[in-house]
Amino acid sequence: MSQTPPSPLSPLSPLRDFVAFTTALVAREPDEARLLADLRPALAALVGRDDWLPDELAQPDPQRYCQYLLHADGLERFSVVSFVWGPGQQTPVHDHTVWGLIGMLRGEEISQRYAHDAQGRLRPEGARARLRPGQVEAVSPRLGDIHRVSNAFTDRSSISIHVYGANIGAVQRWVYAEDGGRKPFVSGYSNRWLPNLWDRSNKTVAAR
Ligand code: FE
Repeated sequence: MSQTPPSPLSPLSPLRDFVAFTTALVAREPDEARLLADLRPALAALVGRDDWLPDELAQPDPQRYCQYLLHADGLERFSVVSFVWGPGQQTPVHDHTVWGLIGMLRGEEISQRYAHDAQGRLRPEGARARLRPGQVEAVSPRLGDIHRVSNAFTDRSSISIHVYGANIGAVQRWVYAEDGGRKPFVSGYSNRWLPNLWDRSNKTVAAR
């Protein structure tokens, strides 16, 4: 991934670079483990700086957490979202059904993984993980796919950037009850319009 210095002419260039990198990666790498190994440092670089996410896609909602689509691959091989937590908000226990990487941009979040025991009951598995700015964690059916995530703070928003191996807002997945029951769930997106990554006219003009 190129390490473009911040430019006032193109604030979205870190996201565009990440999209370009991921597009090339998903086209050449069919193996999930190798793909995640290559993608992890690219997402860490993207969330290692907090100067590019448009304010419109960083707004919390007082009623529920928000998932804003930042980019969907034209073949729906991956999608990138900003996940915005209001103070104290949390998800239900849920799965993803595809690979995903979660990179912490602003604030902090806490993830508790779950797994089914021998009787088919859902149980917390392992310690709660706290994600701090610049850190990245992975989910997938192969690695462990069920968790509950919450904003670590009750007095401020937190934001993480996620990349998933599908158009995640349209994927049929599941929300789980502690007794082992589950309900189908399709997350959708909180935004109607996408950020314009592709107006590169400033760069063209600057190169004249
Ligand atoms: Fe999740």
